Amino acid sequence: MAKGRSLPEVLGAISGLRTDEAKKLMQQVQENLDRLDKCPGHVFIQIRDDGGKRTSLRYRCSVCEGTVGNTEFMWYMRGYRHGKEQGRRECGGQ
Ligand SMILES: [Zn+2]
Repeated sequence: MAKGRSLPEVLGAISGLRTDEAKKLMQQVQENLDRLDKCPGHVFIQIRDDGGKRTSLRYRCSVCEGTVGNTEFMWYMRGYRHGKEQGRRECGGQ
């Protein structure tokens, strides 16, 4: 980071956002991460518009309201599946 510049100022310079917009965006990202970290167990549902159409490759957890992108969702589900498989192996394949 450039000496003497805050992170929102640097983000603003890179993205073209005003410093207050960059600061608000960073706060929203941190709040989302906090929600996701505190969640007891995610149940992700793809975000859709009012007409029920898929609108993005983002997912919202119905438990904590945190959102993730498609890549994070795929890795979460892969880890979830692997954890379940590992649990079955440790229980003798039951
Ligand atoms: Zn969650």
